[in-house]
Amino acid sequence: PAELLDADFYAFQHQLTATEQRALAGIRRFLDTEVRPFADDHWERAESPRHLFPRFAELGLFGNAFPETALFENSSVFRGWVAMEISRADPSTATFIGVHSGLAMTSIAVGGSPAQKAEWMPRLAAGELVAAFGLTEPGHGSDTARGLETTAERRIRQDGTDEWVLNGSKRWIGNGAFADLVVIWARDVADDQVKGFLVRTPTPGFVGTKIERKQSLRAVENADIVLQDVVVPESDRLPKIHGFRDVAVVLRLTRADVAWQALGVGVGAYEAALAYAKARVQFGKPIASFQLVQQKLADALAGITASIALCMRVSQMQDEGTQRDHHSAMAKAFVSARMRETVALCREICGGNGIQLGSEAQYDGQIVPGYSVARYFADAEAVFTFEGTFDMNSLIVGRAITGIAAFV
Ligand code: FAD
Repeated sequence: PAELLDADFYAFQHQLTATEQRALAGIRRFLDTEVRPFADDHWERAESPRHLFPRFAELGLFGNAFPETALFENSSVFRGWVAMEISRADPSTATFIGVHSGLAMTSIAVGGSPAQKAEWMPRLAAGELVAAFGLTEPGHGSDTARGLETTAERRIRQDGTDEWVLNGSKRWIGNGAFADLVVIWARDVADDQVKGFLVRTPTPGFVGTKIERKQSLRAVENADIVLQDVVVPESDRLPKIHGFRDVAVVLRLTRADVAWQALGVGVGAYEAALAYAKARVQFGKPIASFQLVQQKLADALAGITASIALCMRVSQMQDEGTQRDHHSAMAKAFVSARMRETVALCREICGGNGIQLGSEAQYDGQIVPGYSVARYFADAEAVFTFEGTFDMNSLIVGRAITGIAAFV
């Protein structure tokens, strides 16, 4: 089984089954050797590690959430823990995977017909194809439920079957410039309801352009998408999506994983800062021996520990079938707030070196380990914002507490 992480102070990992812990050991080895060492480089070049797609698939990172493609029986807690571990190695890689298997594959699992699932799920799980999820628009982020402007218009083909014509634009779509399949959410002009469409790319009228100069999650390639008279057959509409309520089901499931991802950002930063604090000498002693530095480490670890407990419970509720929107919203909001505090404390511990991407370095004969805390610090900002900002998730909890929605 995988060894306990230093950041797993209460040995939560032992709640995974023996099979899950064994699988985790293999995944962690892969992340330590093939993802983490190259993460800074991908980040600087702003390129997703696409060459690793088949390796992610082999390890079950895409298919494990779905009965038809899982490598072995596994729990939501296990999959959450894995999302945390990927993020701990590289938050961009966790997002890249989360868009493909979390958002896009879950959309098909929740909204797809048996024929759509049979066509897409095995190939997406095997990493043969890359998928994206297009909900956000240039004018609508937090208010997509009400404001979504992309339109879908049904028309009849000459052969008597139905097809849809999509028009509009999308923003921030992860993998959107190179994905083979983009799930596009659009409003039916006839009944005003949001519907889901499987857009196979390339296709006429669909243009995805990579967003440049991002300063967070740089190794996730986000796109601006324009849809101009994009034609989709009725057979590529998700038949079980009847309105935004059904999109919210997808987000409820994926939001819990994003809480785990936020946890992983904090854990990655904590480990980097702890190693740095033990190695960096000032006033003739390792900075880890100073009380104020220990206070910061203790605060960071307490935030991480509370976050693990919350993430574990929300994933258990997912398996029990009792998880509601406000449960994943609270987890995402709380854990991402702790993440922000943690990365700030950890960056502080690393001093000036905390603002530079770093590999092992030597200062006046002192060797300090690879830190890269700056990457976690920067990446935390996007994780704080996507899949519902901190504010929106707090308001979903507020609605559950008071019975009053403050955002409609
Ligand atoms: P806005 O909605 O404009 O919000 C701006 C600020 O106003 C926020 O602080 C917000 O909390 C606050 N605010 C808004 N309304 C209220 C209110 N009623 N009360 C209080 N405060 C409010 N989207 C996709 O569809 N697919 C993707 O793959 C995807 N990937 C992403 C990857 C990255 C790196 C990023 C940064 C974003 C991604 N997104 C994606 C979009 C993401 O989901 C949105 O950025 C997010 O929902 C917030 O929307 P916005 O950026 O338009 O901010």
